[in-house]
Amino acid sequence: MSFADLGLNPELLRAVADTGYTTPTPIQQQAIPVVLSGRDVMGGAQTGTGKTAGFTLPLLQRLSRHASTSTSPARHPVRALILAPTRELAMQVFESVKTYSKYVPLRSTCIYGGVDMKPQIQELRNGVEIVVATPGRLLDHVQQRTIVLNQVEMLVLDEADRMLDMGFIPDIRRILDLLPASRQSLLFSATFSDEIKKLADQMLKEPQLIEVARRNMVSETITHRVHPVSAGLKRNLLAHILRHEPDTQALVFVATKIECGRLAHFLERHDIAADAIHGDKGQAQRTETLEAFKSGKLRVLVATDVAARGLDIDDLPSVINFELPHTAEDYVHRIGRTGRAGRQGRAVSLVSAEEKHLLAEIEKLIKLQIPQEAVPGFDPEPDFHDAGTRGRGRRSPSGKTSDAPREPAPSVRSTPPSRNVDTRRRGKSMIAADGFDFSKPYEPTTPVAATSASLQSTETAAEKRGAPPRRHARPIAVLLGGLGRK
Ligand code: AMP
Repeated sequence: MSFADLGLNPELLRAVADTGYTTPTPIQQQAIPVVLSGRDVMGGAQTGTGKTAGFTLPLLQRLSRHASTSTSPARHPVRALILAPTRELAMQVFESVKTYSKYVPLRSTCIYGGVDMKPQIQELRNGVEIVVATPGRLLDHVQQRTIVLNQVEMLVLDEADRMLDMGFIPDIRRILDLLPASRQSLLFSATFSDEIKKLADQMLKEPQLIEVARRNMVSETITHRVHPVSAGLKRNLLAHILRHEPDTQALVFVATKIECGRLAHFLERHDIAADAIHGDKGQAQRTETLEAFKSGKLRVLVATDVAARGLDIDDLPSVINFELPHTAEDYVHRIGRTGRAGRQGRAVSLVSAEEKHLLAEIEKLIKLQIPQEAVPGFDPEPDFHDAGTRGRGRRSPSGKTSDAPREPAPSVRSTPPSRNVDTRRRGKSMIAADGFDFSKPYEPTTPVAATSASLQSTETAAEKRGAPPRRHARPIAVLLGGLGRK
C-alpha cells in the first residue's frame, strides 16, 4: 500500500514524498481513511508507530478547504487544536505539522509553558489555523483572552494516558467545555485505563477504535537484560558498560531530577559525553541538549520519565534503566525509545535487591522473564537472590558509595541474554484476562468499530466472570515490522 492509496491530496503526497517515506505504517493505513471520513477516533498506539503523521495528514486535508493566502487575521481563525502532555512532544508534533503542511497555505503554531508568552500572543493575533499546545499554557492564553476557540472543528488529544499521569485531565475537561460541540475529535493513548475511557466517553462520538499494538506489549525487536548490582555500585557499573561499548548511544533513566544531574556529572568526570534532561531545565537548554544527543555529540542522555516522554530520537540502540520505574507501565514507555520501526534495540536494567519487587511487576506485565547477568566486580547485595518480590521499603539513594573500591570479582551468574519467554507461564493458559491470546500476539485481524462504552463493558464482564473470555477480533499488533530506516 502507498500513501496515494489512502486518498490524500497531491500537496500532502508531495510533502510525504519529501520525507522519503514510501509505505504508510499500520496506524497510518488505518487512521488516515477514518479521519478523512470525518469520524471520531480512539487510537491505541505508542510513540514510534508513526501515529503523528497518522492524524496530522488527514487533519491537514480536512482543513485544506480553509487554506488561504490572505494576510488578514480574520481569515485564519483556530480550526484545529492538538494537545500534547509535554513541551517536547508538542514541539515534535508541531514539526510534523510544518513538514506535512509545507505545500498547503495553512498556518500553525506551538504554544507551551516555561517561555515568554508574548511571541505566542503575537502569532495567535496574526491568525493561525492549527495550534499545537500543552494544556496549562493553552489555558493561560484562554484566561488572558489571547486565543479564541469557538471555531475549532478538529481536536486531537495525544498521549492521553500521560496527560492522566501528569494530572492534566481537569485541564482537558476545562478545555473541552470551551470547544464547539460539533467537531471531530481524536484521542490517542498507549493504554486505556477506566479514567481514559471515561474521558473518551465525554469527548468522542461513536469513535472508531484503531489499535496497532496491544497495550503494554513491547516490541519484539528489543532484547531485555537485567544486571543485578548493589545500589552503591550502579554508577560504576554504568560507566563500565558504557566504556565497553564506546560506540553506543544510550538514554539512561533515573527516578529523580537530582540524580539526573549528578549522574550526568559523574559520567562526564569519567570521560563519557553526557548531559541531563529534566523538568527544571529551561526550554532552550532542553532543546540544545536534545539536539546535541541527536547529532551524536552526546553519547548519553540522562533523563527522568516526564522529561523523556515523547522524545523522538531516531535509531536509539539502547535504553538503560539506572533505576527501575515505580510503575511497570513506565518500563514499557521507557523502552519504547529503542527498537523502533523494526530496528534492533536493547533495554538494560541495573537492579538492586530492593528493586526486585519492581522487576517482578514488570515481568508480569510484559509476560517475559528477563535474563539476569551479574557483571564481575559489580555484585548485587548479598540478599539479592533471596530478596522476595514484595516491597522492601524506601530505596536508599543509589550511587552514594560509587567511588569506593570495587568488591572482589565474583563469578558471573547468568541466564542466556536472549528473549526468554517464561515457559512456566506457557504451561498454563496463554489467554489474558482481557481475552488477548499471548500465543498469537501478532495475528492480524480486522479493525473493529467500538464505542468506549462497549470496550468498558467487555472488560468488566470478563473481569467479573474471573475466567478467560472469548478472544475478540483484534487489529494488527505489529509495530512497523519491516520498515526501513528514515
Ligand atoms: P511517531 O510514532 O509519530 O512519533 O513516529 C515515529 C517515527 O517514525 C518518527 O521518526 C517518524 O518520522 C517516523 N515515521 C512516520 N511515518 C513513517 C513512515 N510511513 N515510514 C517510516 N517512518 C515513519
